[in-house]
Amino acid sequence: MEDCIFCKIIKGEIPAEKVYEDEEIIAFEDIHPAAPIHVLIIPKKHIATLMNIENEDTVLMGKIIQTTKKIAKQLGIEENGFRLIANCGPDSGQEVMHIHFHLLAGRKMGPKIVS
Ligand code: 5GP
Ligand code: ZN
Repeated sequence: MEDCIFCKIIKGEIPAEKVYEDEEIIAFEDIHPAAPIHVLIIPKKHIATLMNIENEDTVLMGKIIQTTKKIAKQLGIEENGFRLIANCGPDSGQEVMHIHFHLLAGRKMGPKIVS
């Protein structure tokens, strides 16, 4: 997608601090970190929101969760833990229309937002 910031990062047209990359997935530091560790994990395939996931994307979505585990180990946060968040649509405040999972770590998180 031509106007997508994250597609531009994938293509190397916009610089980013990459922490992980393979054929299908890339992870990089959020430009405005909300925690000492704030990484965005995204599929290289442009999918706008969680609501645009198709059946054919099921394996890819599973790989993103597996990659989260890999990155947590790589960053040494597997013991203390982390929070993984995906915003979807206007009420969530999603700003970038390319699916991304926020991996937040390095401090105690606030009160649980899911109950
Ligand atoms: P959303 O609100 O869509 O869930 O999160 C989008 C995230 O992307 C925000 O946390 C924002 O700081 C981050 N972001 C937006 N533009 C860029 C960019 O050009 N580079 C990087 N590394 N992060 C970005
Ligand atoms: Zn995109």
